[in-house]
Amino acid sequence: MIVGIDLGTTNSLIAYFTEEGPKIIPNRLGKNLTPSVVSVDEEGNVYVGETARERMSLYPDSVAMAFKRSMGTEREYHLSGHRFKPEELSSMVLRALKEDAESYLGEEITEAVISVPAYFDDKRRKATKRAGELAGLKVERMISEPTAAAVAYGLYDKTKDTRFLVFDLGGGTFDVSILELYHNILEVRAVAGDNYLGGEDFTEVMMKLFLQKSGIQRQNLSEKDQVRLYRQAEKAKRAISDKTEVTLSFLYREETKEEKITYQEYEEACEDLLMKIREPVKRSLADAGLKLSDIDELLLIGGATRLSIVRDFLIRLFRKFPDTKLNPDETVALGAAVQAAMKERREEVKEVILTDVCSFTLGTEVVVEYEEGKFEDGRFCPIIERNTVIPASHTERLYTVRDNQDKVRVRVLQGESRFARNNLYLGEVSVEVPKAPKGQEAVDVTYTYDINSLLEVEVTVVSTGAKQKLIIKGADNQMTEEEIANRMEELSYLKIQPRDYEENRLVLLRAERMYEEALGDRRKKLDRYITAFEAALKRGDHDEIMDAREELNVILEEEDD
Ligand code: AMP
Repeated sequence: MIVGIDLGTTNSLIAYFTEEGPKIIPNRLGKNLTPSVVSVDEEGNVYVGETARERMSLYPDSVAMAFKRSMGTEREYHLSGHRFKPEELSSMVLRALKEDAESYLGEEITEAVISVPAYFDDKRRKATKRAGELAGLKVERMISEPTAAAVAYGLYDKTKDTRFLVFDLGGGTFDVSILELYHNILEVRAVAGDNYLGGEDFTEVMMKLFLQKSGIQRQNLSEKDQVRLYRQAEKAKRAISDKTEVTLSFLYREETKEEKITYQEYEEACEDLLMKIREPVKRSLADAGLKLSDIDELLLIGGATRLSIVRDFLIRLFRKFPDTKLNPDETVALGAAVQAAMKERREEVKEVILTDVCSFTLGTEVVVEYEEGKFEDGRFCPIIERNTVIPASHTERLYTVRDNQDKVRVRVLQGESRFARNNLYLGEVSVEVPKAPKGQEAVDVTYTYDINSLLEVEVTVVSTGAKQKLIIKGADNQMTEEEIANRMEELSYLKIQPRDYEENRLVLLRAERMYEEALGDRRKKLDRYITAFEAALKRGDHDEIMDAREELNVILEEEDD
């Protein structure tokens, strides 16, 4: 089975296609969202998801998050002295998702459709693919996130041509895409965004408001205190709506500080962020040559579109209610699962033509006559240009440059330079042409590039109709089996935790964190329950462990404010 994966900046999800449509697969903790957080301790034990995130306040140097932002870069993350590239951290998230799905479905999973932001360039897409390969997943197809959202909303079933604006406000990134459904083809018309704007900025505003009102100076807070306050601000942000105000309380220097924050105050404080949101919306509309009123449907994705402040703002801006029948966190993964089903050619879904843009130029080497009778060779002739909507097919006619030339060689290149030598060589194909004076014979070179990154090159001799074909898979430079094996070998010191004990680990970490935060009687109470749970774990009796864990959990729920 092919699954669909949303490898998000903040959270990741995995979904599969059933007879009733796409469904999210819950993780080992029974939750649909797995935080895209990885932690590695000194012994090389790997923690992924909620457990890793819970380690943040206790062991901040062992945790990495938001690494999706650095995909395709050389950035290295140092976790407890070990070094990782962004795609290696992503592969750990993918591996956890894969294992959870395998255990849930009871079958092995070897292939996935992974979603990527529409603006991801080739480098970042390749890094995403490598992450999949390192996790033991074949990734032949990627789907851009807005397209996935549109697919999840079943837009391909529509008979009327429609224009959609997909508004995606995640934890740390913001993307606006305009898609157009036209005669059964779903095309990305324009994308715009801000890589440094997201739900986290709204949490930051809440935190600042609290600090301002309470008179606490941020510089007086330890790193752990800041993490703790941030968590409270996050809770308050989620709770606030036009009908409610929130009270944020925080234990500071052994004193509980409480501040009330109203919706209006919060909205005013978020004014700058809302202004920043407006920019990419405008830009994408301008790029697509459309006005706000041309948009037929507004789709919201990304956790932060749940914020009432954001929704109210959009309703005012578009004078339209967004379509929100799907959970904004889950839409992209569901769309990726539909795409997986299309790839498997399942009967329940009809294959729609989804388009994407090609993020680099594909062309060939030519000789250019720059003055009558004077030639310069080694020049690059673009055939499919960067940002062309794919699948795409373009033809260029090339003429012979010498008298009695009997062969035309087409070198296939990728890149943006005017000079062939600076671009990446992908392969070549030759055809024979009848001998004739120069410029009298010609070949038609057709490049067809599809959403699986397959490039088909067809060269046809105009006078004889003779054809030669070349298919280049390597246009996307997959990692070789050997490279994957080598890197896996290098990472083999890592100890992936058995999934059965995840809940125990998470409860213990949470309890440890709360113990550190608590004082006095609260601390003693926590200690009592933690000790009882640890004793049960040592004795190893399953029922006893479950009981002790449940008791500890109840206390944690009561005490975590
Ligand atoms: P994503 O990257 O799409 O998972 O989005 C994560 C962001 O959504 C984080 O900044 C969360 O704080 C935010 N978020 C999730 N749920 C809610 C909610 N109920 N209300 C407001 N923001 C939320």
